Amino acid sequence: MTLNRRTFLKTGLSTGAAIPLTSALHALEPVPGLRAEEQVIATVAGQKLGTLPQRMKPVDAAAMPWQQKLRRIGQNNMTEHDPAVMDVNAWADYWHSAGADIVFVSVTGILAFYPSKVKFHRHGKFLNGRDFFGECVAAAKKRGMRVVARMSPDLNWGDALEAHPEWAMRHKDGSVQFSGEDSRLFKTCMFSSYMDDYVPAVMREINSLYDVDCFYTNGWPPIGTLPECHCAICSKLPASGTPAYWRVFNDRVLDLWTRYDGIAKEKKADAFYFANLGGNVRCAANLDRLGKVAAWFQADNQGRTYTEPAIWGCSLQGRVCNAIMEGKFSANVTAAYSTGVVGWRNASKNPAEADMWLNETLASGMVPYYHFVGSEAGFSEDRRWQPVGRDYFRWSEKHDAHLTTRRSIANIGVIMGQSTQLLYPGPATVRARGYMDETTQGIYDALLRGRFAFDFVHEDRLEPERLSKYRALLLPNVAMLSDRQCQQIKDYVRSGGSVMASFETSLYDENLNRRAEFGLADLLGISKAGDAIGTNGNAYYARIEHPEAADRHPILEGFQDTNWIAGAQNRIPLKPVERPVLTVVPGFVRYPPELAYPAASHTDQPAIVLRESGSSRIAYLAGDVERTFWLTGHGDLLRLLHNTIRWVTHDERMIQVDGDGLIEMLAWETAPGYAVHLLNYTNPDAHHGWLQSTFPLGPQTVTMRLPAGVKAKSVEVLKAEQKVPFQQQADLLHFTVRRVEDYEVAAITVA
Ligand SMILES: [Zn+2]
Repeated sequence: MTLNRRTFLKTGLSTGAAIPLTSALHALEPVPGLRAEEQVIATVAGQKLGTLPQRMKPVDAAAMPWQQKLRRIGQNNMTEHDPAVMDVNAWADYWHSAGADIVFVSVTGILAFYPSKVKFHRHGKFLNGRDFFGECVAAAKKRGMRVVARMSPDLNWGDALEAHPEWAMRHKDGSVQFSGEDSRLFKTCMFSSYMDDYVPAVMREINSLYDVDCFYTNGWPPIGTLPECHCAICSKLPASGTPAYWRVFNDRVLDLWTRYDGIAKEKKADAFYFANLGGNVRCAANLDRLGKVAAWFQADNQGRTYTEPAIWGCSLQGRVCNAIMEGKFSANVTAAYSTGVVGWRNASKNPAEADMWLNETLASGMVPYYHFVGSEAGFSEDRRWQPVGRDYFRWSEKHDAHLTTRRSIANIGVIMGQSTQLLYPGPATVRARGYMDETTQGIYDALLRGRFAFDFVHEDRLEPERLSKYRALLLPNVAMLSDRQCQQIKDYVRSGGSVMASFETSLYDENLNRRAEFGLADLLGISKAGDAIGTNGNAYYARIEHPEAADRHPILEGFQDTNWIAGAQNRIPLKPVERPVLTVVPGFVRYPPELAYPAASHTDQPAIVLRESGSSRIAYLAGDVERTFWLTGHGDLLRLLHNTIRWVTHDERMIQVDGDGLIEMLAWETAPGYAVHLLNYTNPDAHHGWLQSTFPLGPQTVTMRLPAGVKAKSVEVLKAEQKVPFQQQADLLHFTVRRVEDYEVAAITVA
């Protein structure tokens, strides 16, 4: 909520938390440039702030694994032709000039960039016996940069297929699956001995010849989708896309990952293996399991596409990494080249777009990683990407201490339901692959617009010690929950936590078996009266019960001059509850308009169910409100979500940022103090395409409560590179960020 005078007065009166205006005015030294009213608002906003936890103990940098200290990563993805023309020194000089700590160099597996002796590791046709990989490694090492040995185990050529037909992925009819773009390459099956024999042979050859720091595979495991293969091995496995398949898939990924990691360590104990884990909440590999073994979370989430159009795609990925890695190293790849449905791998993308992706990387706690495809093209045909990355890296280097995150500041946990994201096909009324994507985008958009501080929480990480941080958990249609997970959520509520859930949440178990009743029925106080009802014509409405009642529920705040509000596209019919706040007016005909009126204008079916017990508040939305908000942008749905989130959290915040514009706010504890990141998405290109330019924002006021005994020493804005006046009264810290271009970071140093 953006506070203004009216809402402040209203809120103050309704909660009794307000302090008299005059004393509030005098409680703090005025912030220069703020109007008196803003001073009051800032002060009173502080009344609802939770206190930040005691600061974490300092970490001995010397004891940290080396990858934990990386801050900048560079890559020119090498092409077959590069060995003929690439200037190795110019390549290494660029990344060195940008301050890269580590660079990716291609070993591959499809085409060898060195004179490999591994059978079927075909030499590139321009290699001519040259040790291109070795030269690149030496050039990087000479300049003090570490090296990632980059491999691609996903494709190989006809001679390998002839000798090893069992290596290929197969269609249902037994035919070989080939690359969609170059049919000379077949797709290798991850369950075949290709992964057991061939990949380790290449890794061991590299270790025997070169000094590399770690190994990485591109193209495996798959991102965002599960493989579908009908080879002799796979036809004995459960069907792809099922929970049972997902388990054997994860077992195989874990097994290979652990073995490759062991091979990486055969030469150097501090080396390791890692692979792509992008796909954000819909990553193919189980993130809970992999997060426990991965030393490096490689988020291969390189840019916006037509099907993933929201500007926050990178920071959404960062929140996933934060949920999984718990302080271990994460990096997100920013494509300097043109990503998208129509792509140009050798042409630079809009600088404003590339910059924003890098901004989001830092803001969400990941390490920036800049990437262009083709060194030949990148150092001759199109050089525009070079200053964008170098300038960004060089700026970030000056502020590493503040940009390195330790712990997120958040009081809302959004359950990310990875199995639902990956395996649930949507309700019977809407079978669509994008169903959960739209749900995620809807809740994300709503949380940003409300400037809530939230984390993602993985469904397999619901232990009390993790959840105790959160005032409320949100379950946006987390359809699949095991009995154990349901119990963990109930335990969380029993210990005082609050919950907001929607639609089919807990209607399925972890095996995608439909339950007769919600797994969380007793917690949510609901009981199913039928299966999902969709929309054919006019969607349903939510009728405000007793709109004139003096004790209107807080979730109805702002709904004036109407008896009903927009419902959602789909809903679960529920049995009646006592004193419902919103009831369902069922959908009806939209066209012809003559028939566009409700057949039944009043029912006793609840559209929302609200419960309160001690400090726990429970809200269940019968409709798919988050997703319908994403599809429509309807303000009723946004207001309902905001009101409900504010209610379940008792309107408590850990940080308050007030000002105009659509921003994404992420706040962190850092070694020097705290960092408040503000990403300015107020832009006509925020929901589609790429940013063309920036539309700066005016003042944003920041208020937070520091732990007892912690004093702010200074506040500076890192993009503008200026000190900011601040005031601290007892534990309450307050300051104003005057202007936000595309991105600003308020860095607080504490004593
Ligand atoms: Zn197979």
